[in-house]
Amino acid sequence: MRTISPTILHPTPTIPAMEKGINKTPARMLRGLLACALFAAAHIAADAQDASRPLSSPTRPGAASSQHSNIPLSKPTVPAASSASGAKASSKPANTGAKKKSSASGTVVSLGGLNHIDLVPFAKTMGYSATWQNDGKQLTLKKGGTRIEITGESREFLLNGTRVFAGSAFRIYRRSLWVSRIDADTLLAPIMDPRRGRSTVMQLKVIAIDAGHGGIDKGKINERLKIYEKDMVLDTAKRLKTLLEKRGYKVVMTRTADKKVELGDRPEVAAKAGADLFISIHYNSVASRPQSVSGAEVYRFTPRYQVPMRREKSQPSDALWNPGDAHGFWSSVAGIKIQQALLSSLKVSDRGFKHDKLAVLRLAKCPAVLVEAGFLSHNAEARKIATPAYRQQIAEAIAKGVDAYATAVAAARK
Ligand SMILES: [Zn+2]
Repeated sequence: MRTISPTILHPTPTIPAMEKGINKTPARMLRGLLACALFAAAHIAADAQDASRPLSSPTRPGAASSQHSNIPLSKPTVPAASSASGAKASSKPANTGAKKKSSASGTVVSLGGLNHIDLVPFAKTMGYSATWQNDGKQLTLKKGGTRIEITGESREFLLNGTRVFAGSAFRIYRRSLWVSRIDADTLLAPIMDPRRGRSTVMQLKVIAIDAGHGGIDKGKINERLKIYEKDMVLDTAKRLKTLLEKRGYKVVMTRTADKKVELGDRPEVAAKAGADLFISIHYNSVASRPQSVSGAEVYRFTPRYQVPMRREKSQPSDALWNPGDAHGFWSSVAGIKIQQALLSSLKVSDRGFKHDKLAVLRLAKCPAVLVEAGFLSHNAEARKIATPAYRQQIAEAIAKGVDAYATAVAAARK
């Protein structure tokens, strides 16, 4: 069985007050009653984290709790210890805009089988103010030039207008909004205060660029315009290489010619070169209403215990640890910076900063993101992508995102 240290599971510095609130007794009960019976076949380590494994799709929390109404632990449970740390909240920066009182900092509740923390006190620890709208269903968090708009029971939220997708929906509970502990640690903290990732920050000297597909694997194809993804991504990757080398980075390419490279070999090439950041480049395609879907999206690896966006239901393998889990924090920092740069530079439709269990992200041994820079199935966008000038613009946007990532890395390493 695989043993995972807590520091790998939670790359952000632990907030002691929050740890106090964890109700360990139900966690042990769940481990005893369910973990062995349900997950042994998948060889999942019976560590404390099994308690936070989703019993059903976390994207539909209401359905999850009703389906498992015979399992007491899938119901929200508030540990008695929560009131002990209640005084903590009042010592944090004033919540000037809030119309509603938040629950005590440090409380952990299990909702839909995942541990959740109260969003407002969590945001306050990073100096954010909170304002409620729409009768407590929406929350705006603000600090300096950063504005985050969150809606209850949705996993999509806005960061300065850019769409971001959490692993689980934000939950409305006890007159507050609750975020899964996994999202707090691997998505919100990285975008709200990257300096919280000090303990896992890597240097940024070597960057791996992965041009998707190649050889007999043509990737997505626009048949009408005879445009192949494998050619577009290789050219974009080479342009990005030039730009990053000009900035002083050492760049390694997973392929430089029109040849097939196995998915598993790509992160291996990066690791052998000592890569500090892995950027996979792709172009997208949809079958349904292709002329109405265009724009850019960036992916990070779906964290352990969460369900990739393309699936509704969880499956046993979601609970397995993967190398990509060690770099969730900084993959989120890199991904959001690149998505923001693509949107501001290209003025294209915002498809969002998303997550999926993609092989190259799963196996990467450094922070890793996958860029889907545009849709080849959209004829107008495909025609743009087919021009060297637009591919240069895309490469420059990604490089600009790397610049912003480098700034965050430097601040965390100070
Ligand atoms: Zn592709």
